[in-house]
This record gives sequence, C-alpha cells and structure tokens, in this order.
Amino acid sequence: MVYKTIIIGTGPAGLTSAIYLARANMEPLVIEGWQPGGQLTTTTEVENFPGFPDGILGSELMSNMRKQAQRFGATFKTGSVKSVDFSKRPYTLDVEGLGELQADSIIISTGASAKYLGIPGEQENIGRGVSTCATCDGFFFRGKKIIVVGGGDSAMEEAVFLTRFASEVRLVHRREELRASKIMQDRARQNDKIVWSLNRTPLEVAAASMGLQGLKVRNNETGEEELLETDGLFITIGHTPNTGFLGGQIDTDEQGYIIVKPGTTETNIPGVFACGDVQDRQYRQAITAAGSGCMAALDCERYLEAQVHEAVHV
Ligand SMILES: Cc1cc2nc3c(=O)[nH]c(=O)nc-3n(C[C@H](O)[C@H](O)[C@H](O)COP(=O)(O)OP(=O)(O)OC[C@H]3O[C@@H](n4cnc5c(N)ncnc54)[C@H](O)[C@@H]3O)c2cc1C
Repeated sequence: MVYKTIIIGTGPAGLTSAIYLARANMEPLVIEGWQPGGQLTTTTEVENFPGFPDGILGSELMSNMRKQAQRFGATFKTGSVKSVDFSKRPYTLDVEGLGELQADSIIISTGASAKYLGIPGEQENIGRGVSTCATCDGFFFRGKKIIVVGGGDSAMEEAVFLTRFASEVRLVHRREELRASKIMQDRARQNDKIVWSLNRTPLEVAAASMGLQGLKVRNNETGEEELLETDGLFITIGHTPNTGFLGGQIDTDEQGYIIVKPGTTETNIPGVFACGDVQDRQYRQAITAAGSGCMAALDCERYLEAQVHEAVHV
C-alpha cells in the first residue's frame, strides 16, 4: 500500500498537520516516534497556548490534538523512523517495528531535543525548577533567584529576558571566556540583576522538598566545590534537531536543522515538507510549531493536487 502522506512525529507540528490533512480527506498516517505527543508531554502547565485562559497540562493539550486528528480519520502507528529513501517515488521509510512504509508525500515534524548537562539531579527535576525554555517557564519565577547555564548568545539572551521576572540571575559557565558575541555579552554585563559565576563546572542539581535547593559547582581555579542557591535552573547549551535518521538526504544547515524554502515548508526534495522545531532554530514554541504544521499540510495538499493534474495531462 502507498499512503498519500506520512507524517513523522506527534508534537504540535505533526498533530496540526494531521488535523488539517485528515479534514481534507487525505487519510494521513502518523508515526508517533519515541516520544508520543512530543516535548510538551515532559512539562506540566502550558500557560501560553491560545485558547486556554486557565492554562492546560502539556499532556492533556497533546492528547486533545491527537483525538482531534483521529476524529477526522488520521491513523496512528507506534514506531520510530530509522532511515528514509527519497531517491525515488513513492518515498520509502524504514520504521522500527513496522518495516518499510511508502508514501507519495512526507511531512517531517520530528522536533529538536534540548541538550542537557548530564549531571545528577537534572532529569528528575525537569518541570520542578529545571527548564530549557525561558520563554515558556520564566513567568513561574517572579521574584525568585535563577541560574542560567551556558556561554553562548542564547544564554545571554535568556539571562537578560529572565531579569524581567527574577530578583537575581546568575550566569554559570565552565570557562572564563564566553562564546557569545560581544554585543550580547555587553547587554548581559550592563544588566545589574545579572551576577557571574564563570570558570565553574556544574556537578549536581540539589533538590529541596519543594523545588530546588541549588546547583553544586566546582571552581576550576581553586578546585573547591560550592552550592549556588537557586529556585530555578535554566540550561541553555543548545538543541539537537532530530534529523539523524534522514542520512543526509535532505538539505540541513550546519547544526542539522532542515532548510525550508522561505515562506513555505518545502524542503529540497519535492513532496517532502518540514515543520516545527526541526526546521526552526529561532522560535521553538508550541504555537509556532502548530502554525508551521498547518502550513505543511496546506503545502502538501497543493503538491498532491498538482501531481494528480500532471498525471491527467500526461
Ligand atoms: C520542558 C518543556 C516545556 C515547554 N513549555 C512550553 C510552553 O509552555 N509553551 C510553548 O509554546 N512551548 C513550550 N515548549 C516548547 C515546545 O514543546 C516545542 O516548541 C514544541 O513541542 C515543538 O513541537 P514539534 O512538533 O516541532 O516537536 P516535538 O514536540 O519535539 O515533537 C517531535 C515528535 O517527533 C517524534 N520523533 C522524533 N524522531 C522521530 C523519528 N526518528 N521517527 C518518528 N518520530 C520521531 C517524537 O516522538 C515526537 O513525537 C516546552 C518545551 C519543553 C522541553
């Protein structure tokens, strides 16, 4: 069987594509991947997705989107795509546990994973004080102390942003020098609320009964260990787009983000579209992912429609 469209990934981007394509009678097949529902299933309250004035649990929002897509005829299968063959049509996906699946068009919405420090106490406290998204979680730390770990432009930007809420933002970086551009460093250095703990290696996240106690670090100069007290810990050391399974068959930038044609979701392969965080290194929000998921569905519909017309006129 050749599907009209296979959607890879079930975050807000993939599920929005599924809703639109299902409502257009395209009967999309959706491959769930290793994290059904995507990144929002790892958080508690989502307060900035429009339409939910009292907020909504991340897992509930994603379960609702899934039900909405199912209601209009989207089919879901559990599995992760191991490799793809985009060299000839129909396109082929090799899916763990399901074998080879073929489709006339593909929507890639596999997201990007935040990089973590890999220290004890970190994973257990995600959503309990540890975060990788200042835009998402800054609001929860009004009047509190925050630590930002990282030395690049994103770390500077997030630290400055977080001073809107926090009483103090401490920037922790394992080296004395920062990778961030001079302009971003200057912005952070001119901000009175930001204090600096450079040349410190994070060792452990210490939890309290409610929330965090602090971040244990080693002073690389003296070798001494200290506990930096904090209510929130923002880890801003980058993201890895989930594109390894594409085996270089789609154009990506140097970090692995899929390159789409400006103003569209088209990749360099006709009939293969990308949406959500996997092609967005800048915004990385549920609503922007959902918005680009809608775009991918509409681009995909138009592509399939044009194929039908081409076939009729040959
Ligand atoms: C802790 C946390 C809290 C957040 N809070 C907010 C918030 O409050 N508001 C907000 O707007 N944003 C928030 N975000 C950001 C938001 O979650 C992301 O921007 C959004 O989920 C991106 O959607 P996506 O569909 O592009 O990808 P994702 O949500 O990352 O979903 C990717 C999907 O692809 C699948 N997948 C990956 N690889 C494969 C493969 N090889 N084969 C098949 N499937 C695959 C995964 O299983 C998953 O289903 C938060 C993120 C995190 C981590």
